[in-house]
Amino acid sequence: MKAYVNETLCIGCGTCEAFCPDVFKMDGAVAKVISETCSDCCQSAKESCPVEAIWLE
Ligand code: SF4
Repeated sequence: MKAYVNETLCIGCGTCEAFCPDVFKMDGAVAKVISETCSDCCQSAKESCPVEAIWLE
């Protein structure tokens, strides 16, 4: 599974990085995906994103 961030929707709250620092990293006001694979914390990050900017495939 891999995570993706819609950078247009992202408001830079940092929640995904807090849940999954190995997968999401803040780059200024947007979250970037820094890992090719996603661990269990990605689902929590997705569910906690306030603007539903994260999807998993
Ligand atoms: S939780 Fe959502 S809005 Fe917040 S930084 Fe991550 S992708 Fe952006």
